[in-house]
Amino acid sequence: MRLSQAFLPVLKESPTDAQIVSHKLMLRSGLVRQTAAGIYAWLPLGYRVLKKIEGIVREEQDRAGAIELLMPTLQSAELWRESGRYDAYGPEMLRIRDRHEREMLYGPTNEEMITVIFRDEARSYRDLPRTLYHIQWKFRDEVRPRFGVMRGREFLMKDAYSFDLDEAGARQSYYTQLLAYLRTFQRMGIRAVPMKAASGPIGGDLSHEFIVLAPTGESEVFYDAEYEGMDWTQSGLSYGDAVGLQALFDRIGQTYAATDETHEETRWAEVPGERQRQGRGIEVGHIFNFGTKYSEAMGFRVSGPDGAMVTPQMGSYGIGVSRLVGAIIEASHDEAGIVWPEAVAPWRVGLVTMRGDDAASVAAAGDLYDKLTSAGVETLYDDRDERGGAKLAGMDLMGLPWQLIIGPRGLAQGTAELKDRRTGEKQELSLESALARLTA
Ligand code: ATP
Ligand code: MG
Repeated sequence: MRLSQAFLPVLKESPTDAQIVSHKLMLRSGLVRQTAAGIYAWLPLGYRVLKKIEGIVREEQDRAGAIELLMPTLQSAELWRESGRYDAYGPEMLRIRDRHEREMLYGPTNEEMITVIFRDEARSYRDLPRTLYHIQWKFRDEVRPRFGVMRGREFLMKDAYSFDLDEAGARQSYYTQLLAYLRTFQRMGIRAVPMKAASGPIGGDLSHEFIVLAPTGESEVFYDAEYEGMDWTQSGLSYGDAVGLQALFDRIGQTYAATDETHEETRWAEVPGERQRQGRGIEVGHIFNFGTKYSEAMGFRVSGPDGAMVTPQMGSYGIGVSRLVGAIIEASHDEAGIVWPEAVAPWRVGLVTMRGDDAASVAAAGDLYDKLTSAGVETLYDDRDERGGAKLAGMDLMGLPWQLIIGPRGLAQGTAELKDRRTGEKQELSLESALARLTA
């Protein structure tokens, strides 16, 4: 993308209506604009990041065997009366009437809808187990929407729902999502620690919140530094390996991590002092098993292997896709702006001419831009006739992982400067080696 033709509005001044750094940076760098309280438009830069995050979530769900579908945002009140939640849900639910006075709502979550969709098709134990998911906008009329997209009213969520014949199967489905979550967050370049959450019905241990450390987080968290060294993407563990998944779950159970709600002082005291990590955290995901709560209430039964009718066990698994944009910035920024982890960066390379009025620079940059884009390297080319310093500050603010800087002096020797946004390290390279580095 050429910046001269883009729609990338940036703010010169730090916005005064934002309290936390991620929200400030999202407004300044033009990722989002608020259109109503807790409701945001995703501008092109923010939308690119949102799609990257969504893509990683989708790939890891698919890899874990979950099946994607898409349910609507609007739901009928009838559906929620079936589960008994329509009256219980409270003022967070946005209730709407259509022209025929039918009661509708903007879905805050989809347990009811998925239960009915699956119930109406699944007949026997052969139709199980299944985990179905979608990535869809939700609406919750939060009392205090704040911190930008972190606690919005309309937000994008990945929600998956598992259906199993028995408790043992439900545990497998849970472990599978647990591993998928660890891999998902690691691929995004953030450390999200699974923390024991308020208990689920089976044995009480099937509920975890995934928390990213950040000083502005809403909950107090405690965890063992062991988590900092764990690598889930490389571990050869496969989703079909029941023994391996059990071992993973046991290891997590043994390695301390809790929010203030589940914190146990005696267990915490057993963690060696130098490994104790305490701080604040942002919830980016939540997985839990709820047994037969909805299947029972909504009359979902299948015939079991011995012919007797069985009520399926269910679990639900959420990821805050839009919240993650803010959470990643909270975890990865510096004085100059955002520092995107490569996997979620809106573009990989920011190409800058220091002198937009120098014909040789413009020709060389144009050529590099063509070569990078045809090699499939996502590149934002700042081809505007602006001061070089201002362009570099803009690139720092936007946080693209690499900056390739073309100036008349270097160009006379056939070189460009390659800057690593994270480390700030700069290297003088020939144009060919710079290209080779970025297309490798
Ligand atoms: P919280 O405790 O933060 O209110 P929750 O427990 O209500 O969240 P879940 O119902 O578990 O949330 O939803 C799954 C995920 O959706 C959460 O882990 C979070 O990342 C995200 N999420 C929930 N509410 C919001 C919101 N208002 N704005 C943005 N993301 C949200
Ligand atoms: Mg939760």
